[in-house]
Amino acid sequence: EIETSRLQQLDHAHFMHPFTDHNDLGAKGTRIIERADGVYIEDTAGQKILDGMAGLWCVNVGYGRKSIADAVYEQMQTLPFYNSFFQCTHPPAVELAHELATLAPEGMNHVFFTGSGSESNDTVLRMVRHYWALKGQPEKQVMITRENAYHGSTVAAASLGGMKPMHRQGGLPIPGIEHIAQPYWFGEGGALSADELGLKAAQALEARIQAVGPDKVAAFMAEPVQGAGGVIIPPASYWPEVKRILAQYDILLVVDEVICGFGRTGEWFGCQYYDLTPDLMPIAKGMTSGYLPMGGVIVADKVAEVLAAGGEFFHGYTYSGHPVAAAAALENLRILKEEKIPEYVRDVAAPYLAQAWLTLADHPLVGEARSLGLMGALELVRHRETRERFAESLKVGERCRDYAVEAGLVMRAVGDTMIIAPPLVITTEQIDELVTKARQALDMTWEALSSER
Ligand code: PMP
Repeated sequence: EIETSRLQQLDHAHFMHPFTDHNDLGAKGTRIIERADGVYIEDTAGQKILDGMAGLWCVNVGYGRKSIADAVYEQMQTLPFYNSFFQCTHPPAVELAHELATLAPEGMNHVFFTGSGSESNDTVLRMVRHYWALKGQPEKQVMITRENAYHGSTVAAASLGGMKPMHRQGGLPIPGIEHIAQPYWFGEGGALSADELGLKAAQALEARIQAVGPDKVAAFMAEPVQGAGGVIIPPASYWPEVKRILAQYDILLVVDEVICGFGRTGEWFGCQYYDLTPDLMPIAKGMTSGYLPMGGVIVADKVAEVLAAGGEFFHGYTYSGHPVAAAAALENLRILKEEKIPEYVRDVAAPYLAQAWLTLADHPLVGEARSLGLMGALELVRHRETRERFAESLKVGERCRDYAVEAGLVMRAVGDTMIIAPPLVITTEQIDELVTKARQALDMTWEALSSER
């Protein structure tokens, strides 16, 4: 107890938490998470909480994997670091690049290593622009991305992302990035059918290409399912139409797999779920299941060959291909393969979650419940029929999130959209527990709101 309050004081004094209003932390006393095992995290007060967000969409193979710890320990002692400035390489990074090329869609056989998803997307921006310059079309520089998308927090990645609150701080986005509508059927009010809305959102891409000029557009970038934006699952009509448009105008496709990659959709990569053929695929998070920071960009042969012919690509990071992170990634991939985790998600866990999660749609607070793979969302609304939202000042989503933790479940609030993305090894019993606790959180939120009326 004493230790907890000492840590809370030090936390408040020194630790600048990302994505957090620091004033809130002081008032509540920050919860201190001490350990984790399987799908559960535990705080210093001994409360076990089901981690419905797998950390931050990271811990795909679950917590407490001794074999990853062992691989890391061994690599630390063998070779903790290297640098590529004298044209050298090392076993774990080479093996990892080969492994990723094997898992990625056909024709994607090259990997550029980074330290995070944000760095991966900075790399994407530079690669895409450099690629077109080398192809003799240097005017093709504009990247089209989507509103409310999250692609990272560095200047380029936050600019590629479409989150307005981020853009308001620090004078973003940088020039040459265009944002179009997301295929968010629930958020758009439902005047159109889901498939009509999907088509409309895809055709917004074509309209923007024409407005900017097809000879100026370098690439379109999107997540298969928009994750941090609120688990926005595109209607079935969306991706086929986007594919048609990109082919017609000779524009690269960048599929951000930072969340959807490594089994989350029930396929190795989300692009495989939607039958997409990306030119570049930024990855991170589930690449090491979050055990160590690491990211990368998987690059199609067609792009890699042009870049290689261009000579030195003046880009890289101190931690590109870090040996210890690569060792963690290799062991993580071995676990995913050996335990057939993507197959388990596809055949067992995702269908089970889909039916269990959808039962929450009967709750008076819930305007829509949806899921795909092991990702789910609940839309909290004041009126289910009209989809009218609560006043922002009521902070309904945040309160529901806090009640969920009280009930023993980590859920994330994106405004009043509640999202989950548990570790991929979650059992069907644990899915039941997750849904029961989510319902408790909804009930507690509902009650609090009723007594305030
Ligand atoms: N892309 C997507 C789709 C993400 O969800 C995230 C992180 N939430 C990033 C990129 C950035 O990754 P990182 O936090 O590792 O920089």
